[in-house]
Amino acid sequence: MTTPPTLRIYNPATGALITEIPADDAVGVAASAGAARAAQPAWAAKPIAERLAVIARFRAALLRDIEPLARTLTQEVGKPISQSRSEINGLIPRLDYFLAQTEAAVGDQQVSDSGGMREQISHVPLGVVANISAWNYPYFVGCNVIVPALLTGNAVLYKPSEHATLTGQHITRLLHESGVPPAVLACLVGGAEVGQALLAQPIDGLFFTGSHATGLRIAQVLAPRLVKLQLELGGKDPSYVRADADPLAAAESLADGAMYNTGQSCCSVERIYVHAAVFDAFVEHFCHTVDSLKAGDPMDTATTLGAITRAPQLALLAAQVADALAKGATLRRGGHRLSGPGNGFEATVLTEVNHTMDLMHEESFGPIIGIQKVQDDDEAVALMNDSRYGLTAGVYSRDEAAARALLSRVHAGSVYWNCCDRVSPRLPWSGVRDSGVGLTLSAQGIQTFTRPKAWHLRSA
Ligand code: NAD
Repeated sequence: MTTPPTLRIYNPATGALITEIPADDAVGVAASAGAARAAQPAWAAKPIAERLAVIARFRAALLRDIEPLARTLTQEVGKPISQSRSEINGLIPRLDYFLAQTEAAVGDQQVSDSGGMREQISHVPLGVVANISAWNYPYFVGCNVIVPALLTGNAVLYKPSEHATLTGQHITRLLHESGVPPAVLACLVGGAEVGQALLAQPIDGLFFTGSHATGLRIAQVLAPRLVKLQLELGGKDPSYVRADADPLAAAESLADGAMYNTGQSCCSVERIYVHAAVFDAFVEHFCHTVDSLKAGDPMDTATTLGAITRAPQLALLAAQVADALAKGATLRRGGHRLSGPGNGFEATVLTEVNHTMDLMHEESFGPIIGIQKVQDDDEAVALMNDSRYGLTAGVYSRDEAAARALLSRVHAGSVYWNCCDRVSPRLPWSGVRDSGVGLTLSAQGIQTFTRPKAWHLRSA
């Protein structure tokens, strides 16, 4: 007899085992997929008001339970507790957006009525969709998919990251308690092998958030079956500080954008270009701001630099620092693993960097940043576009027209003027190049969980 699979969950800030829970296997995944297929039509047939009421109850449950939910998130991901609370609080306006906009986004449209012929568009649910998710913002990336997918009448097979599974189970439990039938939303527990088992099911859409490498593997598996696929992948997000910018304000904003969530955001600022005229002032104030970060126990409200969630990432960060130093970079701050138990890495600032260094090309996904001096706007734009990724990009300048002109030349799904590391439910969230295909959020990010159906209606 084979032993049932389990998943061990560790606290990345201490290395301690939190718990060991039962995991899914291929048989369990297939059973959940079959149950979802059977349950989806009845869910889709409910009046939309009933599904909206379920999500309104979920919203209330999140606010009621915010403290234990935040503690679980911090325990398993290593996110500072104040940032865990902010993530859950930050989910509320997204839910409000979905609650307010879903009905309009997928309502029937009459597009023509002429000569006895009416033409209409309706939006029908895809059916059973799978969501394979990341750990860094599990409430955001999970609910960007799960909530609009459920509201538009789909059943969802949700596989949270193996590094955020307890949070994924909480999200699922609260949605079930709020009225989603268990078969309509399944939480599948495990790592890559459970994700692979999910891909083998007869799903109608696959919505993935994670690394480019995994996204590519998933695309290759699904290509022969022509399953609808959305991939929200990594980035190497640049920002440029123009000669006319306020270097102190830009430094404060960008230090936060680079280090918030311990640098583990898909839209973290990952490389900075600064005009020579303001370079020294910018770097000095950037380092000063970084000095105010406090590493420590993520459960402590004063902690602002948490743990690196996946232990192997520590070696990648150290390798990027070593590569940059070997090629002539100057270490201004940090550069090393933090001593003590758990996965800590110092907030790290490097200057005299260039594009021969991995630090300026490959996603770091940690609290390290390279700051490169440039001579003019054209050099900055060329360097910003010198990347296989294209998730977000920003320009700091007092001149809106100049910033807009530069941003229109930059390849990125989202662009920022005098801000960074920002997501809005009202705007589409998407990447270009290796940052992905498809989008979530905005009206299109609701419609993406449906198929348009064309109606040609001639009166008899
Ligand atoms: P990952 O690719 O390691 O894992 C993501 C998910 O895929 C996990 O649930 C994992 O179990 C599953 N998985 C792994 N191998 C699989 C396989 N062969 N088949 C099916 N599923 C498989 O990524 P991660 O470490 O969880 O997340 C970090 C990455 O996510 C970063 O690159 C980050 O930039 C990106 N990210 C992007 C966005 C965005 O909106 N664009 C948001 C958050 C994170």
